[in-house]
Amino acid sequence: MTLEKRELYRFPWSKNDNPIAWLEITDICDLHCEGCYRQKLAGHKPLDEIKDEVRFFKRWRNPDNVSIAGGEPLLHPEILDIVAFIAEQGMKPIVLTNAENLTPSLLRDLKKAGLSGFTIHIDSHQHRPGWTGRSEAEHNELRGRYADMIAAEKGLLVIFNSTVYPSTHHEVPDVVRWAQENVRTVDGVVFITYRTLDTEASVGIDTHGREVEADRLSYTSESYDEVFVTGPEVYRIIKDEFSTYEPAGYLGGTERHDSYKWLAGAMIGSKHRMYGSIGKKTMEVAQAGHHLFCGTYLAYLARMGAPSLLFLLAPWDRAVRRALRNRLSDILRHPTRLFSRLRLQTVGIIQAPDIQPNGRADMCDSCPDMTVWNGTLINSCRMDEYRLYGGLLSMAERNAMQVPAHSGSTHERG
Ligand code: SF4
Repeated sequence: MTLEKRELYRFPWSKNDNPIAWLEITDICDLHCEGCYRQKLAGHKPLDEIKDEVRFFKRWRNPDNVSIAGGEPLLHPEILDIVAFIAEQGMKPIVLTNAENLTPSLLRDLKKAGLSGFTIHIDSHQHRPGWTGRSEAEHNELRGRYADMIAAEKGLLVIFNSTVYPSTHHEVPDVVRWAQENVRTVDGVVFITYRTLDTEASVGIDTHGREVEADRLSYTSESYDEVFVTGPEVYRIIKDEFSTYEPAGYLGGTERHDSYKWLAGAMIGSKHRMYGSIGKKTMEVAQAGHHLFCGTYLAYLARMGAPSLLFLLAPWDRAVRRALRNRLSDILRHPTRLFSRLRLQTVGIIQAPDIQPNGRADMCDSCPDMTVWNGTLINSCRMDEYRLYGGLLSMAERNAMQVPAHSGSTHERG
């Protein structure tokens, strides 16, 4: 039950060869999520600037897909042109959205423009009209509405993101269970652990070494004394309830050798039950194979190929062997299940940046969500430090120039 890095595949992604490019097309949004990291400062980006950024990514990032993010990207008046341009450039456009503005007719138009899929952010701390005070399990009804709407259009990928707060972490299994029960329409779930910076206890130090108040950032709180949830804790919560769940790959931290900033895996199952997970070897074959044959690494594992073919890797992959055994014994008990279609469903866990005793944040090593800022690649979760303070801040304890170990910035998409 304890995670071991040697049992996981370290994704081979880097700054210049990474499956994801993070394109921010607006900082306007119609919700006020507690974990949001973006201020409204500039509004919608002009189409020409967006096209330049897409060309930049193609040249410097080699992405498989472009995450069209914000703010709320569906509010951008030229969203269809943006999707079409990315697709024309040979990359897969994925919209990261809160889905408030998603309608069947917009969905049809997006698909026609070349959209590959959605990452939809839904959780219980978004202050959604009509949904406040409702649990994560109750929000599954909303998730289900969008999953069904997208499935009706056919061929589009859909992943559901949720921010995990100290007060909601025990509800993670409710979301995983719902996803598994709807494996035919849900390609994956991602859990992002909430972080905020306590401005009562901390001050920022800007790139010139000056003390600044960090409270202009949205990922700050006047005071915060709850204990943040970590990625390995989310792993354990899921594992306790779903014994066949295992992550297959990870990204570590830029500061710490022992952090798990990204944990990613995929489970094989059908509408009847989940049989098990893919392991390290299968993840390695998927990444190396995709790079060999398609020229890019792979972020959306649900598109890894026919799940039944993955069983061919059973001799080399212990986790796949276990899944195959479960599948075979299930068929022996229920022979008609031989004909039920297998699906691959991903489970991702992201631990947002954590401030370290040296005042710097432990970021995701080979950050997959880098965006463009002034002609260079930066971590998208901290772009507002560039926009508001001209560069990254380090943190110090107020009046003592020391850092509280529990502080960090937050990360929330869509
Ligand atoms: S943007 Fe931030 S949280 Fe997201 S992957 Fe990069 S470093 Fe990690």
